[in-house]
Amino acid sequence: MTPRDSLRRRITLVVMTTTAAALLLSATSLLIYELRSYRAAWAADLTTQADLIASSSAAALTFDDARAAREVLALLRLRPQIEAAAVYSASGKLFASYTAPGVEPTALPAAPRIDGTRFEGDSLELFQKVDHNNERVGTVYLTAHYDVGGRLRDYLAILFAVTVASLALAALVFGSLESRLTQPILALAQAARDVVRRRDYRLQVAKTTNDEVGVLVDSFNDMLHDLDVEMSQRQKAEDALRVADRRKDEFLATLAHELRNPLAPLVTGLEILKNRDVDPHAQARARELMSRQLKQMVRLIDDLLDVSRIATNKLQLRRDTLDLVAIVREAIEVTEAALRERAHRLETALPGEPVWVEGDATRLTQVVVNLLNNAVKYTDRGGRIVVQLEGTDGAAVVRVRDSGIGIDPAQQVQIFEMFMQVDKSLERERAGLGVGLSLARHLVELHAGRIEVQSAGRGQGATFTVTLPCVAAPVSAGAARPHPAAGSAGAGVSPMGGEGALRILVADDNIDLATSLGDLLVTLGHSVRIVHDGRAALEAATADPPDVALFDIGMPLLNGYDLARRLRADPATRALPMVAITGWGQQTDRERARDAGFDRHLVKPVDPGELVELLRSLGERAAGRVVARH
Ligand code: ADP
Repeated sequence: MTPRDSLRRRITLVVMTTTAAALLLSATSLLIYELRSYRAAWAADLTTQADLIASSSAAALTFDDARAAREVLALLRLRPQIEAAAVYSASGKLFASYTAPGVEPTALPAAPRIDGTRFEGDSLELFQKVDHNNERVGTVYLTAHYDVGGRLRDYLAILFAVTVASLALAALVFGSLESRLTQPILALAQAARDVVRRRDYRLQVAKTTNDEVGVLVDSFNDMLHDLDVEMSQRQKAEDALRVADRRKDEFLATLAHELRNPLAPLVTGLEILKNRDVDPHAQARARELMSRQLKQMVRLIDDLLDVSRIATNKLQLRRDTLDLVAIVREAIEVTEAALRERAHRLETALPGEPVWVEGDATRLTQVVVNLLNNAVKYTDRGGRIVVQLEGTDGAAVVRVRDSGIGIDPAQQVQIFEMFMQVDKSLERERAGLGVGLSLARHLVELHAGRIEVQSAGRGQGATFTVTLPCVAAPVSAGAARPHPAAGSAGAGVSPMGGEGALRILVADDNIDLATSLGDLLVTLGHSVRIVHDGRAALEAATADPPDVALFDIGMPLLNGYDLARRLRADPATRALPMVAITGWGQQTDRERARDAGFDRHLVKPVDPGELVELLRSLGERAAGRVVARH
């Protein structure tokens, strides 16, 4: 049985049962009414007959003329339903009688009974007084055959015929109206089945009525529409997750590859440095190579940290009014070595006067360096790279154009997404993590600017354009903060004079790291004590407070935060300058270190130039303290 049949059958059943019940009820009421009226009519008829006989036989009774009374009764022949009749005298004696042909005369009552009509089975009996001059002179008796059964049969036959005809008519009318009622519901049910089977939520049911079914159809269509929107959103989200997941896997593989790449020359370089027989030129080359590879690794890790800061919304800008011309020059300087190495020709078109923007010098330099590095990387040896800067109509526009491999138009939007690389093949020659452009876009957007790419396609070169809002020149142009050198890792490190020498306590459980840091500090002219856990650091610092303490955070026995707190609580070491040197570089890590009592927080690998600068300022503070103490 299909649901279609079921609904139709059930509605038909309901309608026909209701109709039949209504017909039965009205037929029964009619029958009861009819039987009662029939009975009443019979009683009235017999009473009239009795009245006639009474008035005709009153004189016969008064004059004791039984023959006259019999003649009156004999007229009842004309009424065949009357089976018997009698007239009784006032004393109750039978005075005259009549019985219809074929009826037993003994059926007559011997004496009159109480006046009135009585129904008994199929017969109706009547006793009625006969008055003469207001005096009762006798009683009339009539009995008639009351044919209620025949009447009932006729009536039932008529009612049956009428009921059947009515039901047939109802079925006919309902049949023609039924489809109008059930059609929209059946269409709805069919649509629901189709949706379930095909999982296609774009289906809509046609609305044919404005009644409750119409409301149902509207709600159903709305629900399908909402489901469709939700499903397509979910589908998109799932697709995006799948793509992100795939990119993440690719990224992890690339990351491992990119981190391993610089390691190989570092290992080889170390071997060269270990071998005393190697000539000094080769040793110098090895050192240069190692320093370059190390910088490459630091850059990769810095990029990764930036990615994580952006992902957690923790990237903060140190804003100043900056001259973008100087920023672009700085970026060119940083990439000069790479440009030279790949024999590219660089052309610049920079304005003679400053172009002022509001922003973070380090971050803006990072953006232009990223674009320049890409131009260098994605252009075959001996290419042409053009850097332009214009400041017009309130906007500063930096363009980096190359004659390189170009970018397919279909991929020009995607390359700004995280971990996106056009060439992911194992054969690709160009190193990278696929985060540079995504970082650049985020940084530019944080500066209320935008970054775009134009390329006619593969082999046609590419132009990256950064547009930033210009600001008015600072009141005193000289007051604008000088931007820091983008790569101070290479800053020279020279030993200090005896007067700047500090007693430094180094605590780090990484023995190699602590030792090499110690060696560097000794080279710089300081005296160093090295310990490898927190408790040893606490003991060493309280027994003989140093001028400066450099502590790792994750250490056995006592971590760097607790160590700093305990030293700050001890009067002997309360003012000890303490620097945290750790692999954790998030803003929250910096804040935690500061709360624990550290004066500064440096992220590994520590930039030697920065360390020298820091020690100098802390040394001055320590010297001031000595003077103050004296
Ligand atoms: P990476 O260079 O580390 O792969 P980026 O985010 O800097 O990552 O660049 C993303 C992708 O965009 C690159 O892998 C490369 O396919 C493409 N791309 C970037 N700059 C250029 C360019 N100047 N010419 C051609 N393709 C480029």
